[in-house]
Amino acid sequence: MNYLIQQARILGSEPQDVLIADGRIAQLGSIEPGADTQVVDGRGLVLLPGMVDPHTHLREPGREDAETVETGTRAAARGGYTAVHAMANSTPVADTAGVVEQVYELGRKAGWVDVRPVGAVTVGLEGKQLSEIGAMADSRAQVKMFSDDGICVADPLLMRRALEYVKAFDGVIAQHAQEPRLTEGAQMNEGEVSSVLGLPGWPAVAEESIIARDVLLAEHVGARLHVCHVSTAGSVEIIRWAKARGIQVTAEVTPHHLLLTDEKVRTFDPVFKVNPPLRRQEDVMALRAAVADGTIDVIGTDHAPHPAESKECEWGAAAMGMTGLETALSIVQHTLVDTGLLTWEDVARITSATPARIGRVADQGRPIAVGEPANLVLVDPDARWIVDPYAMATKGRNSPFAGMELPGSVRATFFHGHPTVLDGQLATPRPADA
Ligand SMILES: [Zn+2]
Repeated sequence: MNYLIQQARILGSEPQDVLIADGRIAQLGSIEPGADTQVVDGRGLVLLPGMVDPHTHLREPGREDAETVETGTRAAARGGYTAVHAMANSTPVADTAGVVEQVYELGRKAGWVDVRPVGAVTVGLEGKQLSEIGAMADSRAQVKMFSDDGICVADPLLMRRALEYVKAFDGVIAQHAQEPRLTEGAQMNEGEVSSVLGLPGWPAVAEESIIARDVLLAEHVGARLHVCHVSTAGSVEIIRWAKARGIQVTAEVTPHHLLLTDEKVRTFDPVFKVNPPLRRQEDVMALRAAVADGTIDVIGTDHAPHPAESKECEWGAAAMGMTGLETALSIVQHTLVDTGLLTWEDVARITSATPARIGRVADQGRPIAVGEPANLVLVDPDARWIVDPYAMATKGRNSPFAGMELPGSVRATFFHGHPTVLDGQLATPRPADA
């Protein structure tokens, strides 16, 4: 089946038609629909390259009660994604070729997005011994990104060795920057609100000290470092300094850190418990400015679904994390586009082209041009919707945006030319043999 998207604004520019055939963009301009062509009305809509998430927790294998590759990638397609990086903190941990190939195959068979497994840096995420990095890179999953996300690679020598190892094959270490000694027992951001609430605080310096150390290690080794979910104004300053120095560092921010602050913790609703924690309004504004000036390169959802029992309990006992795949684009529009900080062209860069480049994901993050793979998302920027976690494709009901009215809705997602979302509804997965 061919698809003709009529009169869509490519990256927000003037309306034109886009013909999709054999998984690729076949023609652009003013096009008459031929036989065997399904017409998609793109009037008033913005066409972007399919989004690429550098940071998703799909939970499979091991925590299928929280999410599966099937449900997590359905959520990704609904959110406008055509590729996700699946974090390594599954059970068992993705620290061998066997586990990353399992996740890769589950993704391929599900057919909703490209699943790129992330390999663990250390065996069992224990921070003691490097995992089989080379074997994972050489496996069918072709792992390029390695991370102990959820836990920091705290040992500086192990971090140095990991950077040296991945340098050999153009890989990248994605660090969850959190000095463990400075955050023992921490429950929320350390500051005014934590003192009022009497909760143990999580100081900004715990994140910033690791980022400072790691950019220096990356410079020393000459390897690529990616900083996961940057959350403080001080972290932004360090990354800005490192980039000016020519260090190969990229950085990501989550949608929730672009909008929410630690004021939310006053509700004691565990849906707002997350790692790194929600910070102050000054941090939120610094993060937005850092995306606008290019210091922060990409949006990473850190989609972290949890079963109800892990969140419907008291604050101290609750799990950390929030869902994000189905709200990310709306939060980006709300915080960065509707505020005048970014254009849709910029959005394509931070949600698609750059994350694909960081993960070295082939056929993703490509320009919208004739001959390119048709990984696309069609967005209605004028739509408004109320977030209902029970209407989502993810198993996780832990959305911090529940009940909020957000702008922008995904009308269609094309995954290698196959519509995974049409008319704003999940359609069908792409057949695995396609
Ligand atoms: Zn993390």
